[in-house]
Amino acid sequence: MKTERILDFRSDTVTRPTPGMRAAMASAEVGDDVLGDDPTVQRLEERVAELLHKEAALFVPSGTMSNLIAVRLHCRPGDEMICEADSHIYNYEQGGYAQICGVAARPVQGYWGLMQPEQLEGLIRPQNVHFVRTRLLTLENTHNRGGGRVQPFSLVETLVGWARRNHLALHLDGARLWNASVATGIPLHEWAQLFDTVNVCFSKGLGAPVGSALAGPKDLIAEARRHRKVLGGGMRQVGVLAAAALYALEHHIDRLAEDHANARRLAAGLMEIPFLTLMPIPVETNILLFDVAPEWGTAAQLSQLLKDHGVLMLPTAPQRIRAVTHLDVNSQDVDEALGILRHVICEHRPCQNSS
Ligand SMILES: *Cc1c(COP(=O)(O)O)cnc(C)c1O
Repeated sequence: MKTERILDFRSDTVTRPTPGMRAAMASAEVGDDVLGDDPTVQRLEERVAELLHKEAALFVPSGTMSNLIAVRLHCRPGDEMICEADSHIYNYEQGGYAQICGVAARPVQGYWGLMQPEQLEGLIRPQNVHFVRTRLLTLENTHNRGGGRVQPFSLVETLVGWARRNHLALHLDGARLWNASVATGIPLHEWAQLFDTVNVCFSKGLGAPVGSALAGPKDLIAEARRHRKVLGGGMRQVGVLAAAALYALEHHIDRLAEDHANARRLAAGLMEIPFLTLMPIPVETNILLFDVAPEWGTAAQLSQLLKDHGVLMLPTAPQRIRAVTHLDVNSQDVDEALGILRHVICEHRPCQNSS
């Protein structure tokens, strides 16, 4: 049962640049981007703006910086941002909105990442010296902790309509907007046009080694360029990285459908394995979540045993495991991982050993 190769389902960030991508990086034309001299970065920023139908875009080192800059653009200290309680911006970015921007967060618990319009009613703070000023609504699509869920388009329209009526700014954390677009067939720009600013990541399913972009109106993106500099994100001959992102935009968007098919394949196999339960949400994109029954053992025990057999999956809660499909795992890898998972589950019962 032992494999030589590691089958890595921890995240879609683990992909390595393909030979074609490395070749594009090696031959990239570069210049000092802080001085505005890098033609490859400029091409990337133009391409992203074009795909999202935004006036401008800015290449940034990470999605975390992109979201942070967005909060800084839309809010001042003492403002409040409404976000989903399981969102990346609220849970996995060190509270940068508070640490660096002086902004308060108002988390709303959605159902697997989806907030319902009625949950937002009454959340706008009255204008009164006691209160923070409600200023921004952020949404995440696809929703990472929500198991890669796509926010239904009509739901997004409704939430955005509410925010507009209340004069809030709107930011989309679209780290995996590519996946939402491929899964639904709804073009990137139709999602993006609903928001003032949009973050997209090249380093997730698209398979680039580094980088995200923040897209929006020209004046805001000019301001974003200032914020990126003070945050230490001004980069010099960074066309080598922009070339990887450009390559990914050209070659790696449509193929996300394969990742989605592999995730469904993994889900179908998982359902046949005892002690494992898929979460009660459709596997729409490349992320799936499953629980291991306490009678068998814990998620940490299962992930350690899988690791011993060459399969990496991440525990995200005491009984929960996340598996993500991507460019570096194919359908045979999925079948192999399922075989190992079944073997590990059926041959080991940690909770019996310990009792
Ligand atoms: C990964 C991720 C980010 C942040 O990206 P980094 O480049 O890792 O900082 C933001 N939002 C979501 C939904 C993500 O999955």
